[in-house]
Amino acid sequence: MKILVSDDVSMKGVELLKDNGYEVDVKTNLDEQGLIDCIGEYDGLITRSMTHVTEKVIDAAKNLKVVGRAGVGVDSIDLKTATQRGIIVVNAPTSNTIAATEHTCAMIMAITRHVPQAYNSLMAGEWDREKFTGIQLKGKTMGIIGVGRIGSRIAKRMQAMEMRTIGYDPYISEERAKQLGVELVDLDTLLATSDYITMHTPLTKETKGMIGTDEIAKMKDGVRVINVSRGAVLDIYALADALKSGHVAGAAIDVFPQEPLTPDINPFIGMDNVVITPHLGASTVEAQIGVSVDVAEGVMAALKGEPVPTAVNMAPIPKNIYNVIHPYFDLMERMGILGVYLTEGPMKEISVEYTGDLAKTETGILTTAVLKGALNPILQESVNFVNAAQVAKSRHIAVKEIKSADSSNFLDAVTVRITTSKEVHFLVGMLFNKTEPKIVQIDEYRVDFTPEGYLLLAPHVDQPNMIGQISTILGQAHINIRGMQVGRMTRQGHNIMAIAVENDIPNDIMLKLRSIDGILDMKLIHCDLHAGL
Ligand code: NAD
Repeated sequence: MKILVSDDVSMKGVELLKDNGYEVDVKTNLDEQGLIDCIGEYDGLITRSMTHVTEKVIDAAKNLKVVGRAGVGVDSIDLKTATQRGIIVVNAPTSNTIAATEHTCAMIMAITRHVPQAYNSLMAGEWDREKFTGIQLKGKTMGIIGVGRIGSRIAKRMQAMEMRTIGYDPYISEERAKQLGVELVDLDTLLATSDYITMHTPLTKETKGMIGTDEIAKMKDGVRVINVSRGAVLDIYALADALKSGHVAGAAIDVFPQEPLTPDINPFIGMDNVVITPHLGASTVEAQIGVSVDVAEGVMAALKGEPVPTAVNMAPIPKNIYNVIHPYFDLMERMGILGVYLTEGPMKEISVEYTGDLAKTETGILTTAVLKGALNPILQESVNFVNAAQVAKSRHIAVKEIKSADSSNFLDAVTVRITTSKEVHFLVGMLFNKTEPKIVQIDEYRVDFTPEGYLLLAPHVDQPNMIGQISTILGQAHINIRGMQVGRMTRQGHNIMAIAVENDIPNDIMLKLRSIDGILDMKLIHCDLHAGL
């Protein structure tokens, strides 16, 4: 089989392909037409971000079975078209884990012992030892926000420095944390008790701006703050103020809300208690080799027809099964999204029950769609039809599929039940007119709404003027209501309201809504599907 490598990647991956009997051509700097002219003869294509794999390129790629992206982002590849043509797209999401972990360690050491400042001073002809007295790590507390691939490795390394490691991650189990030697705490406890705070979450709706003025104010005096995750997780301007006041003793930052960080937007200029690097987390020789080898392995697995854990799109499904199940894909993914937002605490089990015709067909891929919906909002990596089951397994989430002949309540319905360490919630969904996704039950409440866009879900005491009070607050905040539905009560005295709104709702408005007398809970859910996959 023939593979084209169209961007500069480490030769280690190319050698691996050749050693395994593949014929490999390296042709870099091809423009779109150049690629179209030659792609027809290749079974596999390996790119970095320079090559754009467009619809036209895919049209011309008559033999292409797999596209490998040596790196993480796949925005240079037309995933939708690739998926439609059954071309598997693979990437290399974990190859820079160690690089980012070690850079974090370097940053922690740098701010602890003032290495760059002391270097600059000495190079400027000074010999000043007192100014650069550091502190020791042993005995201090490292607070880790996001205990995933990188966060867990930071824990291991900081434990070797004899630090106490505590973590805040609402999506990992106590069991996993225990294995890692990380004491799980809530965010406020982490902020108030850590000597060092390091961030390792993905950038999501929840984590965007997660550490700002209020959170910094809750930190211990003399805390040190490190961010090698994503720039928008931390408000660097609030951090700069706290560094100036001395509340924060030191900071090390690799990632910024806007990159490159130009002098006009850099709040740290002239400050000597901060170490900043230009997004160097993944910049090691080994990480570059790693992406090349990992992507070569993914491409080889795809060409052999083996499962590819790093595939970012879905594998083809037999047509007869596809015809029955394809109208349900959106509904299932949206039910997964609703499920994860409805529940609190680390997920332990996701069960999906099918009734009616669905109970008679192969539904594995629909269950996978639920996992995709439930896992994407909380993880950095792209969770898709190919890797969702594996991601769930690695996070110790049990997945159950139940086929039930009993369709006494709803015909052709799906029930998704999510069990966390704290609670269980379930929702029932079905298709209206065989096409339009509808949620028809949430726990004991009968409802009827379309799960899309921004949705407010509010269980409340059944009493007059609940709708009026909510509409007034939303109206005053200029938030347009697209639709509103009050459920049918099945529990005496309680009901649920589902309100579709035009835009995201700011936190202060959510607080006002939650404080209405009789509102038992109020969740804002962004129900849109994960981009393009
Ligand atoms: P991961 O998906 O393995 O881990 C992320 C963890 O964050 C998960 O355990 C998840 O449960 C947790 N999390 C999600 N939402 C949370 C929330 N609201 N509060 C607390 N925890 C939450 O990701 P990873 O591979 O460890 O990467 C972590 C971060 O590092 C990502 O943002 C990634 O983009 C970044 N990164 C940066 C560089 C760099 O060059 N600086 C290199 C690699 C990775």
